[in-house]
Formats: sequence, C-alpha cells, structure tokens
Amino acid sequence: MNKNLGVMPLNHVGEGTKAVWSGEQTAHPYRATQTPIVASAAYGYQDIDEWYDVALGAAPGFIYSRMSNPTVETLESKICGLENTESAVAFSTGMAAISSVLYTFLSNGCRVVSTKDSYGGTNKVFEEFLPRMGVRVTLCETHSHEQIEDEIAKGCDVLYLETPTNPSLKIVDIKRLVSAAKKVGALVIADNTFATPLNQSPLALGVDIVVHSATKFLSGHADAMGGLVCGAENLMEKVRHYREINGASLDPFSAYLIIRGMKTLALRIRQQQISAKAIAEYLLTEPMVEAVNYPGLPDHPNHHIACEQMHGFGSMLSFVLIGGMDTVKTLLPQLRYAHCAGNLGAVETIYGPARTTSHVENTLEERLALGISEGLVRISVGIEDTEDLISDLKQAFEFVNKCCHKAVGV
Ligand SMILES: *Cc1c(COP(=O)(O)O)cnc(C)c1O
Repeated sequence: MNKNLGVMPLNHVGEGTKAVWSGEQTAHPYRATQTPIVASAAYGYQDIDEWYDVALGAAPGFIYSRMSNPTVETLESKICGLENTESAVAFSTGMAAISSVLYTFLSNGCRVVSTKDSYGGTNKVFEEFLPRMGVRVTLCETHSHEQIEDEIAKGCDVLYLETPTNPSLKIVDIKRLVSAAKKVGALVIADNTFATPLNQSPLALGVDIVVHSATKFLSGHADAMGGLVCGAENLMEKVRHYREINGASLDPFSAYLIIRGMKTLALRIRQQQISAKAIAEYLLTEPMVEAVNYPGLPDHPNHHIACEQMHGFGSMLSFVLIGGMDTVKTLLPQLRYAHCAGNLGAVETIYGPARTTSHVENTLEERLALGISEGLVRISVGIEDTEDLISDLKQAFEFVNKCCHKAVGV
C-alpha cells in the first residue's frame, strides 16, 4: 500500500505540504498528476497463481473493490500522513466508520465508557444498538473528568472520546483520560472530526484509534460523504476485515473528491480559525447573546486544556441567543453569506440550531437534559473574508434588536 517514500520524504515537512503530497508521492498510472478514479468492481488475472497470491495478501494488488480499491487506498495513505500513523481504513460515511470500529472491538459482555456530549448518531449507537448486543454503555457528564475516571476504573473495554464536542464545544483532557484507560487495559477511540488532524493529534496523546467524518473538514466542500479510521496496522487489519465482510466501503468517486478537498485543508483551516476567533469576540459584545462557546476564548472553562492539547482552536463555535427559538427564527433568515444547514466543515459558513443539526434525533426534553438550550446556534465558519462574516452578523443582529424593541413596545 505504501508508495516509494524514499522518493519524496514527508517526515519533516509542514502539515500543508503533507496534505498535498502524502499518499501521492510517486507517479500515478498514465503519468497522470491526479489520482485516477478507478471505477472497477473487480481486477482481472490471467495467472491463477498470481491471483491467488494477491487474494491471500502475499502479493500487492486488488481483487474486488469492496475489499480494496486504488483510489480509496490513496485516500487512506493521505490520512496516515496527516495523522502520522501506520494504517487507515475508509468507510462510506463517518457513522459507518464509527459504528464499524465499535462493532469490530466490542462483543457481548463488554463495557464502554464515553461522554454524554458525543455526536448525536454516535450517541444513538451507544444507547440503542450496542445494548442490544449485550454491550453495557456508561455515558458520563462531559465536564466531569473525575466521574469519567471513576467509571473507567470500574473496568471497561473501550473508552470513546470526542473533543471539542458538538455543539457545545466542550473540551476533554485526552492525555488524562488515556492514562486512566491504560490502567484498565481499555482501547481508546477518539473522534477527531471537529479538530481535524491539523489542530489535534490524539494518537500522539496515547489514543489507539482516531475516527473522522471525512464528510466535514477533510472533504471541505460538502459534496461527498466518507469516514476514516486510523491507527496501528495490528488494529486496522481487524477494522479492514470487518469492512470487507460487512461492506460499508467507500466508493472511489467520493474518495477522489475527499482527496481533492484534503489538499487545501491547511489553507482552509488557517483562514477559518482566524474568522472563528473574530466572530467569537464579536458575539461577546452583542447584548442578545447570552453565552459564546469557543475553546479559543480565555474564559472557556477548559481553555487551558485546549491550549495544551490543540495546535489551533478550530472553526466551530456556538452561541446562545436570549429569547430562545423565537430569536433564532428571527436571526438566521437575515444572514446573507451563510447556509442554514445540517452539516459543517465546508468552505461556506453554515449556521444551525441544535434542534435541526447535531441533536435532530433528540426530543426537546432530551436536549434540555443535555444542557442544550433552544437558543443555541452552531456556526461552522467558512473561508469567506472575516470582515464580511462579521458585518453580515451585525446587520442580522440590528434586525433582531429592532424586532425585540418592537415586541416590548420601545
Ligand atoms: C458528522 C459527524 C459524524 C458523522 O459523520 P457522517 O459522515 O455524517 O456519517 C461523526 N462525528 C462528528 C463529530 C460529526 O460531526
């Protein structure tokens, strides 16, 4: 799978260079400069012995695209470069990656410890599907490292982490919880979708397996879905076997789009987080905003942990509007340079309330129990110019302020 690394050493280059070149250090077929989309279900052989060697994994090559595909393998090599690890396995969606990695390592009688703030779909796997196969799941208060450590110490097989969290941007201390997990021999899995490999390296902090929704920042253009799992080859070979048989493989067209998007990851993240910080600071000055959640703000409750374990604070933030859903419904339609949609990590700025985005699967009562108020709005900051994003928000808030004044008869 690995190409000729000697031709183009990438171990001492910057992340931007890695994003462009890793997985693509050597020539593609036909001297194409771009990864070909290999749209073939199967690969033909005249020599039965050679075919058999490839099938057994004794010789390099491809047999059938549910098992492996050249375009998909290029993507897998690329994420290995960015996460600085040995091996990766691509899936059809982020949720396919997350559920498959959990089903690979968990069976009847196992126990998982995680936090209440995991991604909505992941939360459903924990609460609805894993218990059905006899896996016990304990979801702890995300902000309470003590409670998480206590639950880990009771014994568990998998510790599952996600930081920063969606949509509240809480931060959990990866190193601290990894050390608790190692004491009981648990496998640690971390969802690195929000941070991206540029802003956080969970594997370097002791995590065993990193998962990504490649649909988000990696692809970056909201036009392809995919998921990636990465880590040491001895773990990835089990995940790959699970995928081969259960079949949630990534198709080569999507793999191509994700590869193309990943080349600009560093540029996008740099611009997006400059704007995210400026927007967070601006929102603090708006009277209709009750709270701003961004790990880069000095008064974020876990700002010090974010400074320790992240290389940048990312481009996701959220804020709480006074007046709840009524104010949300007044503000969002006024925005001119943004989508109101259920995704994140794209070149366009995207706004959405928790009700229709991260927690669409939950009832109002469940959201309130999770501390997610109806006035909470998530922003995925795009690559537009910072000044334009701020002035867009300003004019939308001017409208909101006018409406509110009318409502109270001022
Ligand atoms: C979107 C997302 C997922 C799920 O990914 P899909 O590609 O939509 O299946 C998982 N984790 C996080 C943090 C996400 O934002």
